[in-house]
Amino acid sequence: MDTIKEDVIILGGGMAGLRAAVAAAEYDSKITIGLVSKLYPLRSHSVAAEGGTSAVLNAKDSFDLHAYDTIKGSDYLGDQDAIEEFVRLVPEQIYTTDHWGCPWSRNEDGTIAQRDFGALSFPRAVFAADKTGFHVMQTLYSRALMYPNIHFYNEYFATKLVVENNLFNAITTINIKTGDFVVFQGKSIVFAAGGAGRLYQFSTNAHFVTGDGDGIAYRAGIPLKDMEFMQFHPTGLVPSGILITEAARAEGGILLNNEKKRFMSTYAPNKLEKASRDVVSRAIMWEIEAGRGIKGEYGDMEYVYLDLTGISNLLDERLPMITEIAKKFNGIDAHTEPIPIHPAAHYTMGGIDSNVKTTTLYPNVFAVGENACVSIHGANRLGSNSTNECLALGNVAGKVAAEWAKSHDFASVSISSVNDEEKRIWEDLLKRNGGENVAKIRDDLRINLDKNVGVFRTEDLLQQGLKNIKSYQERYNRITIEDKSSKFNMELQWALELGFMLDLAEIINVGAIMRKESRGAHYRRDFPDRDDKNFMKHTIASYSVNGPQISYKPVVKTKWEPTVRSY
Ligand SMILES: Cc1cc2nc3c(=O)[nH]c(=O)nc-3n(C[C@H](O)[C@H](O)[C@H](O)COP(=O)(O)OP(=O)(O)OC[C@H]3O[C@@H](n4cnc5c(N)ncnc54)[C@H](O)[C@@H]3O)c2cc1C
Repeated sequence: MDTIKEDVIILGGGMAGLRAAVAAAEYDSKITIGLVSKLYPLRSHSVAAEGGTSAVLNAKDSFDLHAYDTIKGSDYLGDQDAIEEFVRLVPEQIYTTDHWGCPWSRNEDGTIAQRDFGALSFPRAVFAADKTGFHVMQTLYSRALMYPNIHFYNEYFATKLVVENNLFNAITTINIKTGDFVVFQGKSIVFAAGGAGRLYQFSTNAHFVTGDGDGIAYRAGIPLKDMEFMQFHPTGLVPSGILITEAARAEGGILLNNEKKRFMSTYAPNKLEKASRDVVSRAIMWEIEAGRGIKGEYGDMEYVYLDLTGISNLLDERLPMITEIAKKFNGIDAHTEPIPIHPAAHYTMGGIDSNVKTTTLYPNVFAVGENACVSIHGANRLGSNSTNECLALGNVAGKVAAEWAKSHDFASVSISSVNDEEKRIWEDLLKRNGGENVAKIRDDLRINLDKNVGVFRTEDLLQQGLKNIKSYQERYNRITIEDKSSKFNMELQWALELGFMLDLAEIINVGAIMRKESRGAHYRRDFPDRDDKNFMKHTIASYSVNGPQISYKPVVKTKWEPTVRSY
């Protein structure tokens, strides 16, 4: 077992982690930062971000408007104090990344261009064509490489947070290349390990978005918040699930059913296709249920059309990537033909219970990005409001983690806790011999969540979903990992990921059963209305050996009274 010492550990090399690393490095050049990532940073899901990042840059826009859009989008579950602070932090990040070389798309006069996005009352999404994540990630990664005090540990898979007396002292990892068990000792840690969108089968997320960060924190006693809120993006390409950005509708793309009828006027008469994602996803599902979906050449999944032919003049300049995706994956020329789409799991609104200062239950553990639940997004995140969170709060997290490291010493590593983890992996998990296959359980789990914990939920579906999850947990005890080698043992890694996914699926499902109302992305057919009297509160899930213990926490309101939400 090797031990590596770094003042600040950053778990995750996506947009949130890279931004935090740069902020920590800038805070003090004498502080060392270890960025631990199971992927080479530029393979993180952030690279796939497409449409844009919201920021108030125009005098006709305002912080209050950005905050209000976000609060209404959240179905009033977002914490208003956090949102008000967040929107003020964003513009500086746009200019900073611009100065670092991010090629933001421009207006004719050279100013930074902004486009409309779902449920915005002002076109405030800054973008780099439809490759926003790719360009921001290139910018941040190049920047991070300039600091000698940032040390990259790529392809290290984190498995456990080691905590004593409510303070983090180390994180255990597997060096994927060698199979060595490596312990990172740190003074503070930033969780930036992304979301859990791959809990679902039909998903826009990269295959590695398996919620490890949430799982690791939860098992170490840090509560998770609002996990039942999983966002379904209206336009996943059928049958692959690849995202067709919301910018396609914001630029003028329309949705059509099998009668070639534009149906959004029935569900969102004012905003139409530009309503929030939860509203548009449900509208599509209702059309399909009413027999107005299309069943075509892509297997069993019924779909509707996203028609971009009316904006074909914009596709090459503003939406080149999705145009290429439609061509390469479906053989469709979006200039002349509509694209088959269906709602797909997209964004994890829940995550580590934290706040706008990125702090968590343990004073030297911070959380940011999709791994965290601040809560800015409440029950439904607005498109273009995640990458800006990664930048703005990544900057905060890096600074506070560095500040802690500067004023504290290393705590000694809790060796028995580390040894337990080493035994769990090599002597328990790898040696189980019950014949159950990891990939098969994972598929069953994903299909179960699609079916029973999806866009539409009911008590019966959710109870069935939970029963199934418990059976997968039981089967997990009987897995056999066929590959016993140490180097690049992906089967072992998938088994570890599946362990986290099973915990998270249970939390999502239990939270969804207990929330007997409909709010944002959580829609219960048996409780179709929002119930502010009983459920205007955050769900908190804490670890216990018998499964998640659920409690609640109030939502913070500043000046916006909850009203009926319509678009
Ligand atoms: C297709 C797509 C398009 C999107 N478009 C937009 C958009 O236009 N605008 C917008 O605002 N948002 C968009 N989003 C959402 C946004 O991109 C993400 O929420 C955000 O980029 C997440 O960044 P992150 O840094 O939190 O996580 P990620 O980018 O997912 O990075 C997670 C990191 O954690 C590491 N990690 C995870 N588990 C472990 C482990 N066990 N051990 C070690 N390392 C680990 C990974 O290696 C990775 O580096 C989009 C999302 C998708 C899927």
